[in-house]
Amino acid sequence: MLNYPMQTLSADAIICGAGSAGLAAAYYLSQQGLTNIILVDKNEPLSQTSSKSGENYRTWWPNETMVGFISRSIDLMDEIVEQSANAIQLDRRGYLYVSEKQTLDSLDVYKSLDVGGMRVHEQVGSSYSPFQEESNLNGADILIGNDVIKHHFPHLSENITLAIHARRAGSLSAQQLGMYHLEEAKAKGLKHLNAELIDVLQDDEGVSGVKLKTTEGDIIIESRILVNAAGPFVNEIAAMLGETLAIKNVFQQKIAFRDHEQVLDRKMPFTIYIDEQELNWSEEDKALLADEPSYDWFLDNFQGGLHIKPEGGLGSILVKLGWAFNQESEEPQWDKHSLEEFPDLVIRGASRFIPELERYIGKLPKPILHYGGYYTKTEENMPLIGPMKTKGAFVLGALSGFGTMACCGAGELVAQHVLGKDLPGYAQALAPSRYDDLELLEHLRATALNGEL
Ligand SMILES: Cc1cc2nc3c(=O)[nH]c(=O)nc-3n(C[C@H](O)[C@H](O)[C@H](O)COP(=O)(O)OP(=O)(O)OC[C@H]3O[C@@H](n4cnc5c(N)ncnc54)[C@H](O)[C@@H]3O)c2cc1C
Repeated sequence: MLNYPMQTLSADAIICGAGSAGLAAAYYLSQQGLTNIILVDKNEPLSQTSSKSGENYRTWWPNETMVGFISRSIDLMDEIVEQSANAIQLDRRGYLYVSEKQTLDSLDVYKSLDVGGMRVHEQVGSSYSPFQEESNLNGADILIGNDVIKHHFPHLSENITLAIHARRAGSLSAQQLGMYHLEEAKAKGLKHLNAELIDVLQDDEGVSGVKLKTTEGDIIIESRILVNAAGPFVNEIAAMLGETLAIKNVFQQKIAFRDHEQVLDRKMPFTIYIDEQELNWSEEDKALLADEPSYDWFLDNFQGGLHIKPEGGLGSILVKLGWAFNQESEEPQWDKHSLEEFPDLVIRGASRFIPELERYIGKLPKPILHYGGYYTKTEENMPLIGPMKTKGAFVLGALSGFGTMACCGAGELVAQHVLGKDLPGYAQALAPSRYDDLELLEHLRATALNGEL
C-alpha cells in the first residue's frame, strides 16, 4: 500500500473553537497584527453553546474583577456598534432585578464598585424614566415600594417591593457579533478550517502543532501557539497536553413562545426575579409529586434568577425565558435532551412576579422553542483566560452564562497574553495561574457571588 505523506500547513497561531470566544480571539489577534492564523472547528461557526445564548449583557457585577473585565468588553462592543452602524443589534434597555424580600442594604456591595451611581426613587413622579435607551446611562435606578414599581411596570406583581434597574445593560445579537469578528479577521488573512482537533504536538519548546481530522484525511498544522477555545470541551484539548482545567459543565435551558395574550409590555427591560421560590402547585399536584421520587424535587425551593424578556422588537410577540437552576455537572454531550418539564416549571415560576402569565400554565402556546447548552464554569464562576502550563498553549474558556457579553474583552485579553503585550489590571485574577495564589483565590471566591443568568 502506498503511504502518502500527511498534508502539513503552518500558522503563527491556531485557534480551536469557532464559538463566540474563538471568533473574538481571531478578531483581536488579527487586529493586533497577527495575520497567519488558522481557526479550526468541527462544526459550523457559532453553532454550539454560542447559539443558545440569551444574548444579554450588563456591567452590574458583584466584584471588581468582573466589573472591570465586562465593562471593558462592553466598551469594545460599543466600538463595534460605532464601526458597523450597529450590525450587532445592541440595545440598552437595562436589566431590571425585582424582589419581594430584598432591601436597599443588599446593594451595599455595589457602593464600593465602579458600576456607576445609584439613584433611589420612592415616589411616583420622580425623574426616573424606564425606557430611555441612551447609551451614556450608567449605574442603577432603584425603585422602592410597590406603588412606584407598579406605576412604571404595571405587569409586575403587587408583592414586588424592590426593583433595581441597571442601565449599562441590554441585549445584542451573538450571531451578528460573531460573524462580524469572523469576517473582519478573514479580511486580515484568517483561514478557517472545518476539522476536528484530535491531538496537540509538543517538543522541548512546548506546543509545536496540532493534528486535525478532516473529511479529506488528517492534516498537521505546525505552530508554536494554540488558543484553546473549545467551549464545553476545553478539558479534552487540555488532556491532549496532559493538563486539567478546573472547570465543570452544567446544562441550562431556555424557552421562547409567542405571547398571544400580549401579557408583556414589549418595551419592558430584561427582568430577573432574584428571590428563591417554591412553585405554585395545587394541593392535588403537590400530593402526586410528593409520591413520585423522580419528580419530588419540583416541590423544593428553587433559586432566584428566573429571567424573561420580549424578543424580536416591538413588532414581535415572542418572549424568551430562562432559569439556570440546575446545579449538576456532567460530561458534556452535544445531543443532550432538555428536561421535558422545564417549560412548565419556568412559566409557573415567572407567574410569581408577572401574575398574568398564570393563564399560560398548562397551556403554553405551541410551538414552544425549548433548548439548552452548557455553562462551562469554574467554582468561582470566573473565566479562564491566559497561558496554560505548556508553553505556547493558552486557554479562553469557562465563560459560563456570560460568554456573549464577555467575548470581546476575553478575545482582547487572550491576544494580549499571546503577543506579550501589557495586561490590564483584571488579567491576573482571570488567568489559570490564579490557582497558585491561594490568597487571591480566596478573595475571588468570597466576592464572586453567583451572578450567572
Ligand atoms: C442557555 C444559555 C443561555 C446563555 N445566555 C447568555 C446571555 O444572556 N449572555 C451571555 O453573555 N452569555 C450567555 N450564555 C453563555 C454563552 O452562550 C457562552 O458562554 C458562550 O457561547 C461560550 O462560547 P464558547 O465559544 O466558549 O463555546 P462554544 O460556542 O461551545 O464554542 C466552542 C466550539 O469549539 C468546537 N470544538 C470543541 N472541541 C473541538 C475539537 N476537538 N475540534 C474542533 N472543534 C472543537 C465546538 O464545535 C464549538 O463550536 C448562555 C449560555 C447558555 C447555555
